[in-house]
Amino acid sequence: MTILVTGGAGYIGSQMAYQLVDSGERVVVLDNLSTGFDWAIPPGVPAVVGDVGDARLLDALMAEHRVRAILHFAASVVVPESVADPLRYYRNNTVNSRSLIEAAVRGGVEHFIFSSTAAVYGEPSKIPVAEDAPPRPMSPYGSSKLMAEIMLRDAAQAHGFRYMILRYFNVAGADPRLRTGQSTRGATHLIKVAVETALGLRPKLEIFGTDYPTPDGTCIRDYIHVGDLAAAHSDALRYLRDGGESLTLNCGYGRGFSVLEVIDAVKRASGVDFRVDFAARRPGDPTRIVAAADKARALLGWQPRLGDLSTIVAHALAWERKRMALGSGQAHAG
Ligand code: UDP
Repeated sequence: MTILVTGGAGYIGSQMAYQLVDSGERVVVLDNLSTGFDWAIPPGVPAVVGDVGDARLLDALMAEHRVRAILHFAASVVVPESVADPLRYYRNNTVNSRSLIEAAVRGGVEHFIFSSTAAVYGEPSKIPVAEDAPPRPMSPYGSSKLMAEIMLRDAAQAHGFRYMILRYFNVAGADPRLRTGQSTRGATHLIKVAVETALGLRPKLEIFGTDYPTPDGTCIRDYIHVGDLAAAHSDALRYLRDGGESLTLNCGYGRGFSVLEVIDAVKRASGVDFRVDFAARRPGDPTRIVAAADKARALLGWQPRLGDLSTIVAHALAWERKRMALGSGQAHAG
């Protein structure tokens, strides 16, 4: 049986595809290459270039490859962009997910693992935030993912397949073997931006808001290594194959770092005291999000191994250096 990885040319999807191939699984990738790169797909993995919303393409792909499980990563993921262009986010993350779920039902898919996000919680009233906290997204990005969660739950109930909804906290780092990593042009995520600044690819880093009610005034996030995140999906797949019931689980470590702490870690790891400016708050940013992280460990047997901030930052730096050495955007495996 084959696993369909949507968004398998992207940052997290390609890390996942590598881990699945490493463990001997059969994988097919569907990616429209809007933000992903074909070189990021593991060698030998069949890849279809196309859209998750294309029903005819999905039916053909699922029949040809006898897809029995779907890992759905393809999405737009930038919070401020979703504030500026909400309808694009609802189309790409919600409407297209609906098409994929429908195709999964038609194709008799048994297991569906969905990339959701801590952004569904918005500004949680209790930290760490547990999976049963009421979702109150503060951005169209969070809303677009929450709607997809709801559709998935309802469809699974009606049609008898099982799902795992994984709510990612702040994903960072790179494949420990440096086969893939965050490569999006114009990336906006903090660790990526900090690493690019340390390596001279940007003149400065701006901190969006220094007046938050936190110890140092900057926002707090639970940064999770992309390798540990992919491992959580492998554990989830094993759990579902073993007959486990559908679940919604946080993927974070349960500890938070402020923007200033992350910047310090990048300065230490790189040895570069790069320029940092204070700037206004960014719309849609909650003050503090940290995962209640025990459930995924207890129920899936997930054992994170790469959780130190210094490891996350070291891998992000190593990946960026590799990209620079290979020339702009042309990082190849091996
Ligand atoms: N951030 C920042 N400067 C940047 C990028 C991000 O100050 O250049 C802050 C951002 O305001 C938030 C935190 O870093 O408080 C994490 O933002 P990121 O975009 O990495 O992830 P998000 O939590 O929005 O998904």
